[in-house]
Amino acid sequence: MIEFKNVTKIYPDGTNSLKNLSLKIEDGEFLFIVGSSGAGKSTLIKILMCEEKLTEGSLIINGVDISKIKYSKIPHLRRQLGVVFQDFRLIPSLNVYDNIAFAMRVLGKSTKEIKERVPAMLDLVELTSKGQNMPHNLSGGEKQRVALARALINSPKIIIADEPTGNIDPEMSMDIMRLLNGISQRGNITVLVVTHEKELVDTFEKRVVTLSDGEIISDKTGGYV
Ligand code: ADP
Repeated sequence: MIEFKNVTKIYPDGTNSLKNLSLKIEDGEFLFIVGSSGAGKSTLIKILMCEEKLTEGSLIINGVDISKIKYSKIPHLRRQLGVVFQDFRLIPSLNVYDNIAFAMRVLGKSTKEIKERVPAMLDLVELTSKGQNMPHNLSGGEKQRVALARALINSPKIIIADEPTGNIDPEMSMDIMRLLNGISQRGNITVLVVTHEKELVDTFEKRVVTLSDGEIISDKTGGYV
């Protein structure tokens, strides 16, 4: 479903951040991407999100070579992706319910659909009673669960979590990972988690792709290298 084929990325200043990288990710797979700072993790994610163009090679998502698609098709493609960031990126002036509903409103979804779907997502991330809370009244782990509900609200096929537990305590971090794992298993959603957290990676027997200096140096199931 996602295939990076011989992808090279050279930034305008000449930095070669991905070097002939090939990676195939199946539908519904849960994958950790690890590697030290500067290894190329963010570049990989940015190419997947169409925020950066690859220099050479191709990226196929659901049979479509996105390195060749028209600029005007990018918003449609992005809708297949749900993204969770380290810093949550909630809208501070909106309550939990409206933060999640916002992602549906921008796509023009009806009030009826929103009223059905948002509570279901709040249940899924175990925040059933927190819809009226403002973001500043939530813990880090709760904020990240709101962000996860927002990422899932429009039924994406792929979830990208970029250091999702970077700003939350270890116990909550485990909850977030369990939720992400459950989502991938139950919903057949592909989940990519970029993380530095060795303990979390070791807890889940999942595929771990390790990047170093723009190359994959290890791709195996279970445990951090
Ligand atoms: P990671 O996410 O693993 O820390 P990055 O993908 O951010 O790695 O960076 C990989 C390499 O590309 C690093 O050498 C970094 O300095 C470089 N890089 C990242 N973004 C840019 C950019 N916009 N312009 C030039 N070099 C960049």
